Amino acid sequence: MDDFKSVYCKGCWQQMRVPIFIRSPLSFPFRMMGIKTSRMHPNLCTICESMFTKVKKNKQIDIQATVMFADLRGYTALSEHADPAGIARLLNKFYDECAPAIWKRDGIINKMIGDAVLAIFNFPVEQHDHVHQAVMAALEIQRKFSDMQSEFSDISGMNAPVKVGIGIHTGTASIGELGTNYKDFTIIGSVVNKASRIQGVAQNGEILITDDAYHCIKVDYPQLEPRAYNLKGIDQPVIAFAVPL
Ligand SMILES: [Zn+2]
Repeated sequence: MDDFKSVYCKGCWQQMRVPIFIRSPLSFPFRMMGIKTSRMHPNLCTICESMFTKVKKNKQIDIQATVMFADLRGYTALSEHADPAGIARLLNKFYDECAPAIWKRDGIINKMIGDAVLAIFNFPVEQHDHVHQAVMAALEIQRKFSDMQSEFSDISGMNAPVKVGIGIHTGTASIGELGTNYKDFTIIGSVVNKASRIQGVAQNGEILITDDAYHCIKVDYPQLEPRAYNLKGIDQPVIAFAVPL
């Protein structure tokens, strides 16, 4: 599982051609300076978290990104019935299973929002096929959940199946450091909003992607059926496609 881990920061290398060592004995002087591995991705460093906007000479920058929301379903109902320790174990397990699927494909986990993971692809490590990478990560997460169903149900202490709903969208988003004391960065913009909303209408165990995302991977799935959704806060119906598992 650890074979994707790099000895130097991939973000700093790609953006600045500076080798910042985060593993191996070479990382020692960097650690002495307080530079550590980012919690968003084990191949990035804390410079990437706090300095990217400085390196880019801006508080906020626009990037092309693919945003993925993966949401643990039934969590609200579970939290009313299962014991808190079981819920915490379930959330940890969810995170542990989602994270490597995302990290292996150079995506970062920007945040855990309650029971959902917000992942970003194409920043800070750029990828020409970031939509494809996001879809591959989503497929791996769904496969893991179907393979480990009984394990997840046992952890939660409930008999009900534990499922994940995933939404993916791609476009121009804004990344920046919001607030003065904020160390890491936040992604904002309609891309994030739409990815979140499309995740909201994905069924349990489903991967829903917007037409913008589908356009980028159509060659892999030429014949998916379009579906129209009316989403809260978005005027026009949104066309989306379910990726076959
Ligand atoms: Zn870095």
